[in-house]
Amino acid sequence: MSSHPFFFLYRQLPVWLQARACWLYGYKFSRRTYHKNFFEKLEWLLETEKWSAPEIEAYQNERLRKLIEEAYENVLYYRELMDRLNLRPSDIRTITDLPKLPLLKKEDIRNNPEKFISRKTNKRNLIFRHTSGTTGKSLHFYVNQETETLQYAIWWRHRNRFGMTNDSWHVNFRAQLIVPAEQDKPPFWRWVNPMRQVVINMQHFTSSRIGPIVDFLNENYFEFYTAYPSIIHIFAVTACENGLRLTNPPRVIFMGCENTLSYQKRFLEEFTGATITDQYGVAEGCGNVSKCEEGLYHEDFELGITECDEPKLTADGGVTGKIIFTGLTCPDFPFIRYEVGDIGVWEDSKVNCRCGRQSRLMSRIEGREDDYVITPEGRRIMRFDYIFKDAQNCMEAQIVQEKLGAIKVYVVRRSAYTEKDEKFILKEIMKWISPALEVEFIYVPEIEREPNGKFRAVKSYLEIASNAEVENCCYT
Ligand SMILES: [Zn+2]
Repeated sequence: MSSHPFFFLYRQLPVWLQARACWLYGYKFSRRTYHKNFFEKLEWLLETEKWSAPEIEAYQNERLRKLIEEAYENVLYYRELMDRLNLRPSDIRTITDLPKLPLLKKEDIRNNPEKFISRKTNKRNLIFRHTSGTTGKSLHFYVNQETETLQYAIWWRHRNRFGMTNDSWHVNFRAQLIVPAEQDKPPFWRWVNPMRQVVINMQHFTSSRIGPIVDFLNENYFEFYTAYPSIIHIFAVTACENGLRLTNPPRVIFMGCENTLSYQKRFLEEFTGATITDQYGVAEGCGNVSKCEEGLYHEDFELGITECDEPKLTADGGVTGKIIFTGLTCPDFPFIRYEVGDIGVWEDSKVNCRCGRQSRLMSRIEGREDDYVITPEGRRIMRFDYIFKDAQNCMEAQIVQEKLGAIKVYVVRRSAYTEKDEKFILKEIMKWISPALEVEFIYVPEIEREPNGKFRAVKSYLEIASNAEVENCCYT
């Protein structure tokens, strides 16, 4: 949105006109999104989540058969693929037959997106979407109206699990310059009343501006916050450093778009006292998982099938592997066995969640599959957040690997940071990652976000690790 010409104009407006523009945006968004069909879908989803495992399986198999038939009949890419493999729709009757088809890579779609559009579909009825990957390669595709509505309804079902409805007032912490950075007097927020939302952007989380923002949040009660974890973490740390407290905290914080790191979660829990939860999905609309009250991710099985590719056992009895989605609702532009590019951890299928829901369970989303460091011993390390869990004076950190045997640690320091903190982090890296790793600390005022606005905790420039490309969905 920030590069849109409208957005450039918006920033030139006086504050009161920006406020009107936000209201208008919210009005149009609500009209377009929260219509009769949305509420019907949400109601249906609140029923389907009570289904038993056999009911879920039967539903998914039936939708899958339909999808495969339509893809074979009407979508050139799948017709050619299945003919080449000598497969007919009758060969794929259930989820267990899916591995007969190869994985779908982003590159397959980039090579010829037109081949994915069903010949029965009028393109004008589809919604165009694109993602901008971190290597600058974007992906263009379409979703249908049903998928978009279902996605929104699934996000609201997740919020509903924590007692929130469309009428719940909330704050959205984001990166886009809704309140221009050059504005140096309050209000550092904008009301989007039709969406029951207030927007606050991270550029104002500085010592001189955090006071009015915290006062505003204390004077107005909001039931929940939605945020990128790295952004709301900076908010909380800046507020805390300036001796401020939330006296009127929200009940729940819904995270999205990035992995929530353990040190971010712990700090936020302490600072706000709120329940912290998240859901995970992709803009392609072919799959989603949402946490329940017990903190496990349940497959949103109505939208898509989740598979684990190249499964490996984890120490705690789960299975880890590549996340593969098959979207069940968009025969107009089908994503069948789509390799998302992230790694996940599934619970053993015998595990039942204490919440009673019987859909497939995941315990963790590990993040991008190329976000790992290779140690001199040849180990791949994906997560570093536990290294920083006791490094309280570190506002934010990013690990970058440019060559084998070495890493750079970019750190945004808090005011109390001293040499002792650097020594402590170094010791933790030696202990947990590798004693042979060459470590260079680089201190920066902020850590640059990716072109898509996301924070990446680990970044690798090694040839071997840079072939994947990932873009998760974010419409908070
Ligand atoms: Zn559960």
